[in-house]
Amino acid sequence: MKIGVLALQGDFAKHESILRELNVEAMQIKYPEELKICSGLIIPGGESTTISMQMDYIGIRKKIIDFAKEHPVFGTCAGLVMLSTQLEDSRIQTLDLMDITVSRNAWGRQVHSFVDDVSLSFSNSKPFGAVFIRAPKIDKVGNDITVLSEYQSEPVIVTNGKHLAASFHPELGNDTRIHKYFLELIND
Ligand code: GLN
Repeated sequence: MKIGVLALQGDFAKHESILRELNVEAMQIKYPEELKICSGLIIPGGESTTISMQMDYIGIRKKIIDFAKEHPVFGTCAGLVMLSTQLEDSRIQTLDLMDITVSRNAWGRQVHSFVDDVSLSFSNSKPFGAVFIRAPKIDKVGNDITVLSEYQSEPVIVTNGKHLAASFHPELGNDTRIHKYFLELIND
């Protein structure tokens, strides 16, 4: 099984190392045709305005939307912004893959980045140390969305049973549980 990590901009390298730690082959995706050999795709954190622009520049937007009909996509931070359906920022064209309404940077600016424990509904062994960097807030979720983790009573990890999104950076640190959950979605 090969997992693609969109490598247009942002924190893709750390996702690759977490996947390798889980003994899964990771592959940087820089060209649309590379998606063909992947079973899942991670859209990393970074800057969603840039990621959105780059997607059109290399012509991968429609390929990702088609890919997502068959395979799970995991968006983290800016990647979550890209998966959303509703966003009040006209510079970003989202992929409309998950029924969530999102506000960018709503957990604070870069200087207010923080780490705190969140609990994971799918793993109660211990809390997860979540790194929030200009993180998006999920303001509203649709009927098909399940909340897998909350922070201060706000959803921070959500799934629609097929795709997965986290508003923080699960690739920072050595805890592989959230990536493992994504692999389970692929294997289902
Ligand atoms: N605020 C960024 C955006 O909306 C996301 C930040 C991040 O990915 N760490 O693009």
